[in-house]
Amino acid sequence: MTEKEKQIVIIGAGIMGASIGYHLAKAGGKVTILEKGTPGQGATADSFAWINASRGKKPFHYYELNLAGVHAWKQLELELNGELQVIWGGSLEWSADGEAAAEINRESQNHQGWGYPLRQISADEFEQLEPNLKAAGFKTAIYTDIEGHVDPVLATQVLLNQAQQHNAKLYTGCEVTEIERSQDGPSLIKTSLGDIEADLIVIASGNHSPTVANMVGVSVPMQDSPGVLVHSKPQAALINRIVLSPHGHMKQKPDGRVVLGASFEGGSGTDHSLEAGEGLLHHASQSLPQLDDAAVEKVTLGWRVLPADGLPIIGFVKDAADVYLAVMHSGITLSPLVGNYAASEILEGIEIDQLKPYRLGRFE
Ligand SMILES: Cc1cc2nc3c(=O)[nH]c(=O)nc-3n(C[C@H](O)[C@H](O)[C@H](O)COP(=O)(O)OP(=O)(O)OC[C@H]3O[C@@H](n4cnc5c(N)ncnc54)[C@H](O)[C@@H]3O)c2cc1C
Repeated sequence: MTEKEKQIVIIGAGIMGASIGYHLAKAGGKVTILEKGTPGQGATADSFAWINASRGKKPFHYYELNLAGVHAWKQLELELNGELQVIWGGSLEWSADGEAAAEINRESQNHQGWGYPLRQISADEFEQLEPNLKAAGFKTAIYTDIEGHVDPVLATQVLLNQAQQHNAKLYTGCEVTEIERSQDGPSLIKTSLGDIEADLIVIASGNHSPTVANMVGVSVPMQDSPGVLVHSKPQAALINRIVLSPHGHMKQKPDGRVVLGASFEGGSGTDHSLEAGEGLLHHASQSLPQLDDAAVEKVTLGWRVLPADGLPIIGFVKDAADVYLAVMHSGITLSPLVGNYAASEILEGIEIDQLKPYRLGRFE
């Protein structure tokens, strides 16, 4: 049986499963995607969805992967004629605190040394780029124009539609409950909608990946990392790009809603009450005064899909050669690239060098 004759079953229709499904189906793979709920409603829906290779993207190989991820979005956008509706415009980070400013400068010089197109800008240029921001005590600002953001649920839907146009099957409300593997035939995937045969299984089940991987006897080590985001009601145009301020990170969607987060590292707790959201918006109004009048529409609590060492887990499993894992943070940035790479590894038998640091075997 050739790789293209194999029945490939992807478990999970977040942005990762959707992208892998699209790339596999486009390349001629026989794909079925199983989703226990509604597509894109896992970590994908709770994401800040910033496409970037800057903040915290270390070591060098992980930075390079993310940079390739940014370029892969640009490529995919062209391929899909703008359907993904990515908002390019870059990002701007500023600080008023001496120590934090020194740290930001150090980090960005490190990235500049790797060739990332970041640069330090003056207070005047800062004001020109974002006239509504108030940078009291301005110490430093770093700008890059290659980054962007996206509506991750919309992008997931677009990728799933495209996958279906290339003959992929999608079953929603279809929970995988058990997997019976066989040495000499297809595995039997037991689901809430009945049994499905699979010659190859892709686990892209987000934070549920350890549970699903357990069904085939594979252990996937993860850590907890909660993230709270505040979504305002629609506002007039306030900011033009991703802004990282001392009072939170923010972006404005095309519909005018501002999305605001307090921490990238999971250190902001789990309080996602309306009052907590109002408090965060009020705090952020020190950087963007208009937010003080903005009403909170919703506050979301999501869990980053974060492997134990913070780096992605991608690729075939050594002791279960018919199982492919795609479990990672920065899954928005990385999904077009990983979809493409996974399709090459699965259908063409190519080993992608750039994925070598991310095999599950590193935890052995
Ligand atoms: C607060 C926050 C901020 C973030 N910010 C960014 C950012 O700025 N940039 C960035 O690149 N990334 C960011 N991320 C990370 C990014 O959102 C995730 O890495 C990405 O969405 C993961 O997508 P996924 O498809 O792997 O997982 P998910 O979206 O969780 O999808 C997995 C799917 O699998 C399904 N599933 C699970 N178990 C089963 C089963 N047994 N049977 C069938 N289906 C099943 C689930 O229902 C779910 O739909 C952020 C995440 C959070 C929470």
